[in-house]
Amino acid sequence: MRQLIFATGNINKIKEVNEMLSDGMDIAGLKDIGCFEDIPETSPTIEGNALQKARYVFTNYHVNCFSEDTGLEIDALGGEPGVYTARYAGEQRDSNANMRKAIQELENKSDRGAQFKTVIALIIDGQEYTFEGIARGSIAYQKMGTGGFGYDPIFIPEGYETSFAQMSSEEKNKISHRGKAVSLLIDFLKKEL
Ligand code: IMP
Repeated sequence: MRQLIFATGNINKIKEVNEMLSDGMDIAGLKDIGCFEDIPETSPTIEGNALQKARYVFTNYHVNCFSEDTGLEIDALGGEPGVYTARYAGEQRDSNANMRKAIQELENKSDRGAQFKTVIALIIDGQEYTFEGIARGSIAYQKMGTGGFGYDPIFIPEGYETSFAQMSSEEKNKISHRGKAVSLLIDFLKKEL
């Protein structure tokens, strides 16, 4: 069994990916390799941040690994908040404040189109690969639903009238940016490993 490290401290994300994988592959997290430091994320792009995290782990811990980075890109705001999605309303990274700010910024705009983008960066034996997942949708006028996390209550995926926060996680994963990127990663791993 080959081990692959998911460069995240989030055990829910690790569990989710392990559930999607078949036997023969074992995904572990950063704490399993004794990595407890904050990995730098200073790139101006989502792809750059995903690569930066994976390269950090590969270089410092010498393990095959992958990382992911996600951002919300709002059309009428020229793709903002993008890499600043987590700290859109400030360093406290407060989801309610972030959502309030997004709604405020769109107050006088008719175009409410937006997308979530996830990039997964994988490094195997020094070889780099990236996988991108996009979920198109629109920003709601107010919060809808209480499930999910982050911006879920104000993101209505294309073709739906409900927000991500009003869906089961199974339903969301089928159409979400992260779900799509993870599926591409898993297809690749099944073929390559
Ligand atoms: P991270 O890349 O997981 O750190 O996420 C960056 C920012 O995007 C954070 O503010 C998250 O709350 C938000 N975010 C990431 N994925 C999702 C999602 O699936 N739904 C809503 N917000 C998300």
